[in-house]
Amino acid sequence: MIPQCDIQRLRDIPIRDVAERLGLNPGRGKCRCPFHDDKHPSLTLNKARNSYHCFVCGAKGGGPIDLVMGCLNKSFVDACRWLADENNVIIAQQHRQRAQATDSMVTTDVVHLNRLMEKKVLNDDARRFLFDERKISREVVERVGISSISSPVPMSRNVNGGWFIAPSLLIPYTDIDGNLLSVQARYLGGEKGKPRFLFPRGSRCGIFNLQVLRDLEDNEPIFITEGTTDCLAMLSAGHKAIAIPSATMLKQDDVALLRRFRSFHTNCHICPDCDRPGECLYLDLKAVFPSLVRHQLPAGFKDYGEYWKEMGHKRLTC
Ligand SMILES: [Zn+2]
Repeated sequence: MIPQCDIQRLRDIPIRDVAERLGLNPGRGKCRCPFHDDKHPSLTLNKARNSYHCFVCGAKGGGPIDLVMGCLNKSFVDACRWLADENNVIIAQQHRQRAQATDSMVTTDVVHLNRLMEKKVLNDDARRFLFDERKISREVVERVGISSISSPVPMSRNVNGGWFIAPSLLIPYTDIDGNLLSVQARYLGGEKGKPRFLFPRGSRCGIFNLQVLRDLEDNEPIFITEGTTDCLAMLSAGHKAIAIPSATMLKQDDVALLRRFRSFHTNCHICPDCDRPGECLYLDLKAVFPSLVRHQLPAGFKDYGEYWKEMGHKRLTC
């Protein structure tokens, strides 16, 4: 279910960079061949064709995806996911903000963000968006710890660290114990061309509302949503929910973390957006959590957030 255009993007990642990421040490365009028990570098990397060729075992013609498959013993789809993850390529999510810029050289200034989130403020834009427009419960907003800004604020103490634009919601991302990992800004202004979602550089938080898992009872229903707004609607409806930006961006350790909870094996739910990315998310997640239960929205609703704001009293049965 990976669109052809995305596969092409993965195939265009320089083969040398991929070999580097795989730890093959591609000095002078040659590295040890992962397809046979290679003692000396015999895999040649062809820059022009973006492919490899092993003169010993004859492995040839493959590109970045094949190299990952051979090296990490992954299926085609898993190799694509790995490559996408390593290179910040978002599969079938082009219309979404590439929010999760991960840059291993940069670390999020958590001290600064903690100070920023210390005192919660809900300005008029935030209240209008959350309560009037989206019908999010006040209790949920308080519990999750959402704040807002009316004028731009820096993302870190470093002056070059970038700015949160305003007016925006400030949405905290925490670990299971509630420790702040990063803050996502959700732009509420009307100016065209501004990114709707922003994370500080170096943010490594893939899952929103992880702290809900702390009190998750054995086998209790848990919803996986796409994006924070749907998640807030789910929480307002009284469901327990986490949000992920996209299945392809789930890191292996995130998946391992979720798997520790029985609910993700037995009582895991999704109400995917009624569009192609929603469908892809469902299928991708189904591959990770096979017991995932799909809920179909009534005709005419694009996503759960919209359903909730129109039909607020209705909960999904699970
Ligand atoms: Zn070989």
